[in-house]
Amino acid sequence: MQSVVPFPSMNSDLHVVDPKRFRMYLRKPTMGSYFELIVDGDRPAAELRVLMDEAWELVQHLVDRLSAHVPASDVCFINEHAFARPVLVDPDLFGLLQQAAAVCEFTGGAFDVTIGPLVKLWGFFAREGRVPSDAEIEEAMGSVGMGHVELNPAARTVRFHRPGMEINLGAIGKGFVIDKVVAMLRRSGVTCALVNAGGSSIFALGAPPDGSDGWRVGLRPGGTAMERLGVVELRDQAFGTSGDHEQHFVTGGVRYGHILDPRTGRPVCHRMTACSLGDSATRTDALSTALAVMGPEEARRFCVQHGESAVVIDESGEGAPVVEAIRCTIRPVAGPPQTMGLSPLSLDASSRDGKQTRGRHH
Ligand code: ADP
Ligand code: MG
Repeated sequence: MQSVVPFPSMNSDLHVVDPKRFRMYLRKPTMGSYFELIVDGDRPAAELRVLMDEAWELVQHLVDRLSAHVPASDVCFINEHAFARPVLVDPDLFGLLQQAAAVCEFTGGAFDVTIGPLVKLWGFFAREGRVPSDAEIEEAMGSVGMGHVELNPAARTVRFHRPGMEINLGAIGKGFVIDKVVAMLRRSGVTCALVNAGGSSIFALGAPPDGSDGWRVGLRPGGTAMERLGVVELRDQAFGTSGDHEQHFVTGGVRYGHILDPRTGRPVCHRMTACSLGDSATRTDALSTALAVMGPEEARRFCVQHGESAVVIDESGEGAPVVEAIRCTIRPVAGPPQTMGLSPLSLDASSRDGKQTRGRHH
């Protein structure tokens, strides 16, 4: 178990976890949850500290551009103007929108970033859930669909063909931020790090220096006091997980989760957790959401058919969840995961202050 030596700094969220190995840890609230970074290196702690600060600045910069909750963000600007005229978009964001469009097509519309009007209609945007009328859903659906978005690569512009359209990057943005941080760390020569956004999007750079094959991430469906179901080991790999354990509301005995089916305009009601593994955190974030929309059976079929690495956890039965690993390996739980955060869905156990903690993070 690691011990924590607080770094003598104004920044109380930054710690040298192990002064001998120069492991540094940062955790900050953002994107509706938290951002977490472990960097392990053989360079002076002061250098690592600068790197951690840069990483955190990059995260804040990206959130300011991508979040629909930041009124001055690029995404809000697009939402406001792209029906009236084509809006010029910065290359990074344009690339992200192209990736979002590709995943939308790949998943038959299960993933769709134009879900914005529905996220608001169901009250998930303001985090005040409500059940809209069928007429309201039908009206909002008129403003949903990537097919009504024109991406012009030559001009690098975005245009909406329907009024009322709104892009919401909630299911892909965390992964994108992680990929950007990983690229920055790689450019800086870092070969060993773990980047985690809210426990639902992760990138494991290299492997921990203790000789293990990869960073261990515990699988634990949320909302229960259940033990971890197993561990996946990640090495130079991204991991995204999705399920509606965290954000949901209950009305009239019915549970409504924040993952919506863009084709019906309604929250999905599968009890499941879907995890996607791959090279890009952007893609695994988006794909895990799409798998959660498909439901356990279709998700399994889809991953087998397309050669996707995934873990599909079916929690619909009365008994223990049914776990299926597709093109990846789930190992038995042995020792604490090396991730430090707690997550409603996937990560478990924190050894930050020398003792195990368990529970849901808010
Ligand atoms: P988390 O944010 O908990 O990691 P997800 O990555 O699945 O979970 O993202 C869920 C968020 O994405 C929702 O809060 C909503 O803003 C948006 N969203 C919901 N359903 C979809 C969907 N089918 N396609 C794209 N975005 C979605
Ligand atoms: Mg997602």
